[in-house]
Amino acid sequence: VLWWGCRRTMGEEYMVYKDAKQPIGVRVKDLLGRMTLEEKIGQMAQIDRTVATADIMKNYYLGSVLSGGGSTPLPRATATDWVNMVNDFQKGSLSTRLGIPMIYGIDAVHGHNNVYNATIFPHNIGLGATRDPELLKRIGDATAVEVRATGIPYAFAPCIAVCRDPRWGRCYESYSEDPKIVEEMTDIILGLQGEIPNGSEKGVPYVAGKNKVAACAKHFVGDGGTTKGINENNTLTNMQGLLNLHMPAYYDSIRKGVATVMISYSSWNGKKMHGNQELISGFLKGKLKFKGFVISDWQGIDRITSPPHSNYTYSVLESTLAGIDMIMIPYNFTEFIDDLTYLVKKNFIPVERIDDAVGRILLVKFTLGLFESPLSDLSLVNEVGSQAHRNLAREAVRKSLVLLKNGKNANDSVLPLPKKVSKILVAGSHADNLGYQCGGWTIAWQGFSGNNYTSGTTILTAINSSVDKDTEVIYSENPDSDYIKSNNFNYAVVVVGEHPYTESAGDSETLTLADPGPDVIKNVCGAVTCVVIIISGRPVVIEPYISVIDALVAAWLPGTEGQGVSDVLFGDYSFTGKLSRTWFRTVDQLPMNVGDSHYDPLFPFGFGLTTKTIVSRSTSAGVDGRPYVPLIMIFVFIDLYFQGKFLS
Ligand code: BGC
Repeated sequence: VLWWGCRRTMGEEYMVYKDAKQPIGVRVKDLLGRMTLEEKIGQMAQIDRTVATADIMKNYYLGSVLSGGGSTPLPRATATDWVNMVNDFQKGSLSTRLGIPMIYGIDAVHGHNNVYNATIFPHNIGLGATRDPELLKRIGDATAVEVRATGIPYAFAPCIAVCRDPRWGRCYESYSEDPKIVEEMTDIILGLQGEIPNGSEKGVPYVAGKNKVAACAKHFVGDGGTTKGINENNTLTNMQGLLNLHMPAYYDSIRKGVATVMISYSSWNGKKMHGNQELISGFLKGKLKFKGFVISDWQGIDRITSPPHSNYTYSVLESTLAGIDMIMIPYNFTEFIDDLTYLVKKNFIPVERIDDAVGRILLVKFTLGLFESPLSDLSLVNEVGSQAHRNLAREAVRKSLVLLKNGKNANDSVLPLPKKVSKILVAGSHADNLGYQCGGWTIAWQGFSGNNYTSGTTILTAINSSVDKDTEVIYSENPDSDYIKSNNFNYAVVVVGEHPYTESAGDSETLTLADPGPDVIKNVCGAVTCVVIIISGRPVVIEPYISVIDALVAAWLPGTEGQGVSDVLFGDYSFTGKLSRTWFRTVDQLPMNVGDSHYDPLFPFGFGLTTKTIVSRSTSAGVDGRPYVPLIMIFVFIDLYFQGKFLS
């Protein structure tokens, strides 16, 4: 009382919500009790960074800013530039009456893919092929550090879609067609947010500290099950189908303390998910007891009506009543604020629903420690693209590769390739193109082509650094067969695939290799022993050329660390990846997933050959170059000693 009295006489009011020693629930309640309707509605709005300024944040009490796919990219911005930009918006929010910090969100979906020089990990389809949840945890951890290094505490990841049709342009964002693998891969959340302590209350978000970010399980729910794989389309299945295929990973994510969930553009049996009260309020918040906040997708509420945005007031009403807490608007935020204010004042939306939404947003902000440390310093900027993170990405690439064929006959094995030969041919448009290697969601929403957008190692560069110094590596994008024959190449590596795409731009009915990929395969493989590496976001049509190919590798979209490919190609490590998807023969078989009655794939789900590592390396150095042989021998010695083997 004395202390309180002193504070009062000094003119400073004790505010429960500002006291970090108070339980978070108490702080949320206290703060909510102090807020006006205007301040509450502002919290529910997320705007694009291009319309945000410190003054706008302050004047409208806005709760969040984002850099989304649709945002104008910041191609060469450094980590320091990002920190300064985010801090500037934050200062606006902190200068409001109650000083509520905003939360900045970004699509960091394969590393911090928006930022120049960041480490770009393989896209999810490749990570699914690793079958390695522990690796996913480490990737989550590295991604969180790189995102935090740029002053951002919130990543719109992971995508836990179960892609049931590779014609979907977002199939590469899905770990697998199999819900069990997707469930296991949600361990990335434990890396992004930190390991949730045992005994934590179910559904309550957990974020471990300043080097962690709030994650976002997306897109709730059924995004990967739309008819013919058409993006944002309708998922036709009954509740049991939803529970069996699309819901399991949400149970897991919530158990792991995921802080937020994003709603899917798609519909379930004709009803837009953004207006689905039964699934959002009833199932996710009710049955699954999810206590974090639910965020809409980019202009997702606009699309409740057809054409989109034709009755925005209705969209705001439907989506808010359905249970969405934060709206990714992202541009015309005054329209949203006016509509929501009107709907609450006229009692179309109860104030309790607004309090639920804002309470959840504040809960995540308190959990993240934003009230205590709203501004970021530059202490982590050197973590962006650090060597340790690149090594981790390289390991992920190695483990994601799936060997589909290794020799024309059962007894041949083309791989691993010898490092010492006179001449190797490297061909194909994807051999020396970092943009193709990274795919969509890299610097720009639709990805890029070429090598100047960020730093990393192309497969060609990686091959050059892996082979013996006397081996000549010759690159020709599309060589003709006479040239190949006259050159006496010992073997060729052909790297072909798809060009980058994102979301609807990637929907495809044909799933073909980009031209001139098929011709390069035919020309090169017809003339010399060839290894074909496919860079793609999904299985593609390969059956017509399979007979001329000597060895075939699915490398998915491996990201910036091309050396992971050459590590395995030349036998420093073995192939271990397994298909996380069914590889079809012809597109008219689609959709075709493991367990279907007419299952006749070119390569079945789970398929993947292995190779041996080259002995010279593995005897002297273990995984990641650590010497393990002497250590094992010491253990064997100790064991034998205690078993009395030396005495007998
Ligand atoms: C995508 C989301 C993404 C959001 C923000 C949408 O178009 O569907 O996955 O998080 O944009 O960029």
